[in-house]
Amino acid sequence: MDSHQIKWNEKTAAHIIAQLGKRRMEGSFAPSAAQAAEEIVAMIPEGACVYRGGSMTTFGMGLWERIAKIPGVKILDPYKPEFTLEESVEVRRQGLLSDIMIASTNAITLDGKLVNLDGGGNRVAGMNYGPKKVILAAGMNKVAPDLESAMARVKHYAAPINVMRIGYKNPCAETGLCSDCRSPERICNMWSIIEGHMAKGRIHVKLIGENLGY
Ligand code: SF4
Repeated sequence: MDSHQIKWNEKTAAHIIAQLGKRRMEGSFAPSAAQAAEEIVAMIPEGACVYRGGSMTTFGMGLWERIAKIPGVKILDPYKPEFTLEESVEVRRQGLLSDIMIASTNAITLDGKLVNLDGGGNRVAGMNYGPKKVILAAGMNKVAPDLESAMARVKHYAAPINVMRIGYKNPCAETGLCSDCRSPERICNMWSIIEGHMAKGRIHVKLIGENLGY
C-alpha cells in the first residue's frame, strides 16, 4: 500500500470515527490487521464469554486463535466443524446472551451507518441487541460513500462471493451477479442498517488500513 492510500485510509477513518461518535457508537483505527488484532484482544476481559459472528475478516486476521489464549475466556463458536446443524444453531442462540460479540460489517458508510445482510439473521440480531458489547472489525475496503452504494456493495459483491465460498448452488454462484433468487439457500434475507444506538458505546468499529474480507 503506497503513501497516498495510507493517507486516504487515515483521513477517511478519522472522518467515519467522528460520525460514529455522533451516533453514540465508538470507532478506532489501526493501520494493520496485526495491530487491530492486538487492540481488539486488549478490549476483552479475562473470563469473558465471546460470541463469534460470521466473518472472513476476523478469520483472516487470525483473531480467534489469539482470543482463545485470553485466560478464562469462553468462545461461542458456531463454526466448529464437528457440530451438527442443530448444535450450530443452538450456539448461535446462546451467542445472543454473550458478553461480547465479534464480527465484521458488510459495509460502512462515510456518515457512519453499518449495513449488513444475513441469510439466517443471527449475525444481524446480535449486532442489534443481545450481547453486551459488539466489536466489528472492518478493512477500509468496506467503506461505501452512502447507503445506496453500501447496499449495492453488499448485494452485488459480498453476497455472491460468500455464496461461492460457502458452496451454495444459488444462481450468483455461477454468474457472479445477483438475480434476486428464491433459493432455499438464499443468504440475502434480512437487512440491518444501524444508524445509532441507545446504549452508548455498545458498538465499537475497528477500522483497519488493509483490504480484509469481502
Ligand atoms: S439474492 Fe440470491 S442470487 Fe442474489 S446475491 Fe443473494 S443468494 Fe445470490
